[in-house]
Amino acid sequence: MPLSLPVVEPALNGTPTGTYRAAVVHAFGEPLTVEQVPVLGLELGQVRVHVEAAGLCHTDIHAAHGDWPVKPSPPFVPGHESVGIVVELGPGVTEVAVGDRVAMPWLGYACGVCDHCVSGWETLCLEQENMGYSIDGGFGEYATAYARYVVKVPAGVDPVDAAPLTCAGVTTYKAIKVAGTRSSDLVAVFGVGGLGHLAIQYAAIAGGRVVAIDLHEEKLELARELGAEFTINAAEEDPVAAIQRLGGADQAIALAVAPSSFEQAFRSLRRGGTLVFVALPADNEVTLPIFETVLNGITVVGSIVGTRKELREVFELHAAGRTHVTREVRSLEQVNESIADVEAGRVAARIVFQP
Ligand SMILES: [Zn+2]
Ligand SMILES: [Zn+2]
Repeated sequence: MPLSLPVVEPALNGTPTGTYRAAVVHAFGEPLTVEQVPVLGLELGQVRVHVEAAGLCHTDIHAAHGDWPVKPSPPFVPGHESVGIVVELGPGVTEVAVGDRVAMPWLGYACGVCDHCVSGWETLCLEQENMGYSIDGGFGEYATAYARYVVKVPAGVDPVDAAPLTCAGVTTYKAIKVAGTRSSDLVAVFGVGGLGHLAIQYAAIAGGRVVAIDLHEEKLELARELGAEFTINAAEEDPVAAIQRLGGADQAIALAVAPSSFEQAFRSLRRGGTLVFVALPADNEVTLPIFETVLNGITVVGSIVGTRKELREVFELHAAGRTHVTREVRSLEQVNESIADVEAGRVAARIVFQP
């Protein structure tokens, strides 16, 4: 029986030929260039996706700057919270079909057989590849992804909402799981940006009472709209004293990159509390006291993105109307000004490009 050839859906522009438009990092710290890049053939297990929406995460900015100890290799295309329609299947793909809407998260590939992968911790796989970092990401009209590691977006979820949920959503959903939030816990969310505005909602869904901390009044207003019971402007008052007056936080979620906010998050905890590190500042160092950690029985834990299963749960909650995504749509040509706006804190929550 002859192998069936990939079906091309003309309404979705079909399989691109020649080149397509993407935002490319050629050198760390230099502006991205929006240019034509070649269409490459699909390898075993890969699919081609026509990108509908791609969120701008702080990680993309760190990637473009080469900020972290493990760096991507330019030239590369950032973007690890993108969503689009499958237009072409590579050899051996059975997991998705042409026409499916899928999300392409940070975990672009994992081995599937190591201890981490088989125990529900695929996000710790040592063989992993990351979208927009070690493999080209979603800042383009098309992206190539591994079919096993894309996650189907349910009907009724707007792709422009689905994009931020693919990193900011699943990352904070997982952080609240790792924090172990239970009903009536006081959860301190440090930083109300793309991640924080979703962390507030997942903490509330888990039954927590939320205190949100930020430096900008309009972000605190957004936090209150999304369910934060208390808000603290850290530019005006000491968040540690304010949270301790509330009895101390059972969990603190560190989402802001300022070194001082990690220390404030630690000191805002009540005895027995848990500090969850999520944000990855370029500085990469924070000072925590051993004495208070031991005497107060504090847990400090790192949390990195989430699994495919958790992303499905995130989409399920959104499809059920239980979360709201605050985002602003821009064109890919605005990538450099958008990065500058995110760095300056001028963006309410998330920028989503529509390539
Ligand atoms: Zn991200
Ligand atoms: Zn693995």
